[in-house]
Amino acid sequence: PVVPSGGVVARILEEVYELCRSDTSGTLADYIPELAAVQPDSFGICLATADGRVYGSGDLDTAFTIQSISKPFTYALALADRGPAAVAERIDVEPSGEPFFEISLDPTTQRPRNPMINAGAIAAAALVDGADAADRFARIRRSYSRFAGRQLSMNEAVYASESRTGYRNRAIAYLLRGAGIVDGDPDEAVDRYFRQCSIDVTVRDLAVMAATLANNGTNPLTRERALSRPLVEQVLSVMTTCGMYDSAGDWVTTVGLPAKSGVGGGILAVLPGQIGIAVYSPRLDAHGSSVRGVKACRELSNRLGLHFLHVT
Ligand code: GLU
Repeated sequence: PVVPSGGVVARILEEVYELCRSDTSGTLADYIPELAAVQPDSFGICLATADGRVYGSGDLDTAFTIQSISKPFTYALALADRGPAAVAERIDVEPSGEPFFEISLDPTTQRPRNPMINAGAIAAAALVDGADAADRFARIRRSYSRFAGRQLSMNEAVYASESRTGYRNRAIAYLLRGAGIVDGDPDEAVDRYFRQCSIDVTVRDLAVMAATLANNGTNPLTRERALSRPLVEQVLSVMTTCGMYDSAGDWVTTVGLPAKSGVGGGILAVLPGQIGIAVYSPRLDAHGSSVRGVKACRELSNRLGLHFLHVT
């Protein structure tokens, strides 16, 4: 696929925004009060190209928590810190077909099935290097910030709620510790995971993060390298097969782009070499993905011919 000229992209973005805006179906995440308290009608679409052009419609500057969209970025940092072979010993890359919260460990190796479900994400958070817990989280935040091209910060209220209510994620961290997948303190690993999920972003940030992946790991706006080229391929591969919760197959057939969604209402999608797309709208479908986000990505993919198997 080849991205059309700027004028065409801006017009199609506007059309897709108008088309999806009337869809108010879905429900806000409500497992913590902060997520249930967001403005339900917020809606923004942003597209950033690998050569640094940014197009947007709607609420481009509304902050929301990154939630599960953090998973590919922490996985990327773990790969950079430990190397792909060492990470593969602890986290598999097979789609689980199960919801994100599933306690899905391979029965023989005990490895989490992939880094996009919580078990694999907590294992990845445990693999991040640093002098101590504070340094390890600081490295995560700095890494995401390099992708976004600005300093990102954590939402304290969301973090406090995630931490107060996260019993299931704690249980997963303890299982990982018992299986020898997590070496250190499981509480430290899951705390880092709660923190990374609570980082605030805008839809513009997510589009630039996606465009950095599209641009082989170099931020197209700041020119700073966020990830090495071979690791970009590994991360995008896992997003392709495992990024959309338990609807990965449907997503690949109808949108055809590596992607990741989060229960904060964000979706990020990447056309390698060309563009990053992000959508924010907090009402979720049964899988936990933004309703308007899925619809907008489908429409953009169709109208701009972005499906990675699309032949012109
Ligand atoms: N903090 C959430 C959890 O792990 C993130 C879920 C998500 O975005 O899918 O339960």
